[in-house]
Amino acid sequence: MPGQKRGDNGQTGPFTHYRACNLCEAICGLEIRVEDGEILSIRGDRLDPFSRGHICAKAVALKDIHEDPDRLRMPVRRVGTDYEEIGWDEAFDEAASRLKDIRDRHGRDSLAVYLGNPSVHNWGTLLYGPMFLKALAPGNRFSATSVDQLPHHLAAYLMFGHQLLLPVPDIDRTDYLLMIGANPLVSNGSLMTVPDVRHRLRELQARDGRLVVVDPRRTETASVADEHLFIRPGTDALFLAALVHTLFDEALVRPGRLEPFTDGIHLVRLHVRPFSPEAVASAVGIEAERIRAVARDFATADAAVAYGRMGVSVQEFGGLCQWLVNVLNILTGNLDRPGGSMFTRPAVDLLQFRGPGSYDRFRSRVRGLPEFGGELPSAAMAEDMLAGGEDRIRGMVTVAGNPVLSTPNGRQLDEALAGLDFMVSVDFFINETTRHANIILPPTSALEHDHYDLVFNALAVRNVARYSQPLFEPGLEARHDWEIFLELARRLQGGSLITRVKGEIGRWQSMAFGPTGLLRLALKRGPYGKRLGFRELLSAEHGLDLGALDSCLPERLTTQDKRIHLAPGIITADLGRLRRSLEKMSESAADGTLTLVSRRQPRSNNSWMHNCERLVKGKDRCTLLIHPSDASRLGLRDGRKARIRSRVGEVTAPVEISDQIMPGVVSLPHGWGHDRPGVRLRVARRHPGTSVNDLTDHQRVDTLSGNAALSGVPVTVRPARRSRRPS
Ligand code: SF4
Repeated sequence: MPGQKRGDNGQTGPFTHYRACNLCEAICGLEIRVEDGEILSIRGDRLDPFSRGHICAKAVALKDIHEDPDRLRMPVRRVGTDYEEIGWDEAFDEAASRLKDIRDRHGRDSLAVYLGNPSVHNWGTLLYGPMFLKALAPGNRFSATSVDQLPHHLAAYLMFGHQLLLPVPDIDRTDYLLMIGANPLVSNGSLMTVPDVRHRLRELQARDGRLVVVDPRRTETASVADEHLFIRPGTDALFLAALVHTLFDEALVRPGRLEPFTDGIHLVRLHVRPFSPEAVASAVGIEAERIRAVARDFATADAAVAYGRMGVSVQEFGGLCQWLVNVLNILTGNLDRPGGSMFTRPAVDLLQFRGPGSYDRFRSRVRGLPEFGGELPSAAMAEDMLAGGEDRIRGMVTVAGNPVLSTPNGRQLDEALAGLDFMVSVDFFINETTRHANIILPPTSALEHDHYDLVFNALAVRNVARYSQPLFEPGLEARHDWEIFLELARRLQGGSLITRVKGEIGRWQSMAFGPTGLLRLALKRGPYGKRLGFRELLSAEHGLDLGALDSCLPERLTTQDKRIHLAPGIITADLGRLRRSLEKMSESAADGTLTLVSRRQPRSNNSWMHNCERLVKGKDRCTLLIHPSDASRLGLRDGRKARIRSRVGEVTAPVEISDQIMPGVVSLPHGWGHDRPGVRLRVARRHPGTSVNDLTDHQRVDTLSGNAALSGVPVTVRPARRSRRPS
């Protein structure tokens, strides 16, 4: 059994451990029964004031991942197509010396780092990763942000002054929730930390509130909504612009207390003039009168909130979509008021620790896509490796990421990673991406270290805080991720003797503090000051509720003039592109082209939970959803395989005929495709599925934000020929 048991006061019998789940954004409280170092059960912690006992099917993955025989416990080195276990010293030496060598010979631009989504669920990586990045000084930084929520950050940076000043729906008090491209019943909330969302939505409806979902698929959330509107993929910006147009057209603009510190209202009126509901209806696929009715209902509700998520971010107009969501909330007075779109007051205020952001200070090498917050769009990653020249990317570090399955045109990235001079991965699985690494450095599992959620407490629909102690003692040889980053930083440190000595002192202090020491300091500087110190957190094993969200504007704005910038020029300049696309969208609405969207599944979390038998067993869930009318037109049969082709690739998948998807749209789930050679995930390989990102196109991006346009990919679909049995 990996790891030693750990009980309060060192008891040896069965005991109960309480902690927050850090697998997804919902941060549910868990009650874990343990005996003799073995987890007997994982249940929801009913005394957690925030999650109220809710958990989802994925919670058991914490145990499965911890015990997974495929999980690396020691560093490995790739030798041909095989791996050999090596000691930490040797692994650190080789990783640092080879990366340094590339940097010395070819310059900083020859190095790149990719940070995967689990990085933000792990406070060790968040707190100590920057130290490693500083020492490595790569010329190229990529992350999962630009295949997900980058448009949110861009809009927040330009409108409110800080990339992390992200408003969340005050779901517990709203009367009208307009949800566009979001499916929290499956995602469990995203950029809206909302455990137990099903009950919260029921409570909304029980108080006569209204839930309206706009999505090309009748999602799990749409199925419980008061109204579901099908929308053609990629046209959400037109829909949102038409809502804002209607507010002006029908004298529904009432920003209320926001007006004295909001600039640009008249400019927005001018900018949305071309986007009347009547002008966009045929492209969007929603009748003009219905669009007007949504705008009226939204504007006249006592408290309303618009929330747009993944579906409206990962498309060609993601930046405009997230800007328009904020505009809609502001023009109706629903920003920063109870029941509207509000800002949390987290115990650890990230705004104190992260810079406000930056935009377009430099560009990607081949295509010239803009930087945001020091990172380049992940859609440019492969081409910047594959292009020739001295400054191409030659050395790579991935941290808790699987971009081969998560970023557009995964096959191209696969090829690019295979051609690198050297690659290091900080990860505990040999997956579709890390199989290319020369050295893999595995950190401890989530149950072997303590945790405080720095990011998702700051996006929660209530002000909450919870500290989780480690459940198991890590083995003597194991390293936490923050220890890995400190050690790599030590060996990578360059510069003068003074710089190196200073770096050494800083790292020694950081090692002595550990994440917990930093948390103590951060709490002292946080908004709850003396009221909430580490001792209080430690004694609240079920977590603390610090109250409902409260109004905080204009004080919390970080724009230099402390005003909301409703019409930033960088964003409004992009409306010309939207206007030009209107005609094209109307035409393609009529020509029968199929467009591909992805979908999330309750038992799946991006690409990394398919090695848990109990989450993948049963029928094949990696199916192509298609409407009956399209299936009949194309001669597709339920359960038989279809061949799907895009500009960049071709895959096959079993057909699932369903009217939950709108005509003209097909859908594949995200995160599958485990049949590549060299993947060491035994369970996942038995349930490989197909990677939707073998079809998504790296050339399709939101040129404003640089976010990948994973949604709305043009595809053709036909029946796959059945292979003949060998005689
Ligand atoms: S909803 Fe998310 S946080 Fe809650 S148990 Fe499931 S995976 Fe964990």
